[in-house]
Amino acid sequence: MPYDPIKRHVAIEKLVTRVGPYGQERKYYRIRPARWYGGIVTADCVGCGLVCRFCWVSDVVASRPAEVGKFYTPQQVAESLESLARKCGLDLLRISGGEPTIGKEHLLAVLDNLKGKGYRFILETNGIPIAYEEDYAKSLAKYGFVHVRVSLKGCSEEEFARLTGAEPEGFKLQLEALRKLVEAGVSCHPSVMASFSTKESFRSLTERLNQISPKLAEEIEIEELILYPHVVRKLQRYGLKYYTGYAPENVPPEQV
Ligand code: SF4
Repeated sequence: MPYDPIKRHVAIEKLVTRVGPYGQERKYYRIRPARWYGGIVTADCVGCGLVCRFCWVSDVVASRPAEVGKFYTPQQVAESLESLARKCGLDLLRISGGEPTIGKEHLLAVLDNLKGKGYRFILETNGIPIAYEEDYAKSLAKYGFVHVRVSLKGCSEEEFARLTGAEPEGFKLQLEALRKLVEAGVSCHPSVMASFSTKESFRSLTERLNQISPKLAEEIEIEELILYPHVVRKLQRYGLKYYTGYAPENVPPEQV
């Protein structure tokens, strides 16, 4: 049965956030430097409201959010990111691993802790909470050092449903997030998992983005599968056929 992506995000939020003495806490399972964007310090959070069938997050982390990771206060996350950034000589930070916009109060408090310190922060999101939570995009507009990358799961409602197992209308929420971000003046761009898409569906997505803002259509980033062994196993399990993908050691430099 397809699931409601909003309800699932709300349910996951209850498992991976809690109220602590220093604000809303969120679960994380590691903090690491990563090769993407030319080097970025990454805090991997636990929990996502989608179940993408190509997701690189391990099954253990994805399927047991209540058991995996530990709770961090916003200050602890910010300090861990900063400390590793200093050690690695990097000024680019992000939260990944799960959906970073789950736990709005926590995320905004992390950003408050990082504000004015010379970092750039990439918010990689599926956009669903930004679409359904009132004023999320407006809140993000207060952080000029944040750039939001909304990762679209396919080029259409049908592809979204096939790739995530969620109700197809969830795709409209992803586009709605982009619309809200543009309207709020937040620096953002769309990326699209295009490994399962035809040229025709990609063209149709570009037209829809163009209607929101021509800039989104111009700046669309193509994401392609990275064929980690556990991702290949997932794809086989779901019988998902793809057109393009790369071995982890052969990802083209422009995609890193
Ligand atoms: S939205 Fe991202 S983290 Fe969530 S399941 Fe999909 S690929 Fe994984």
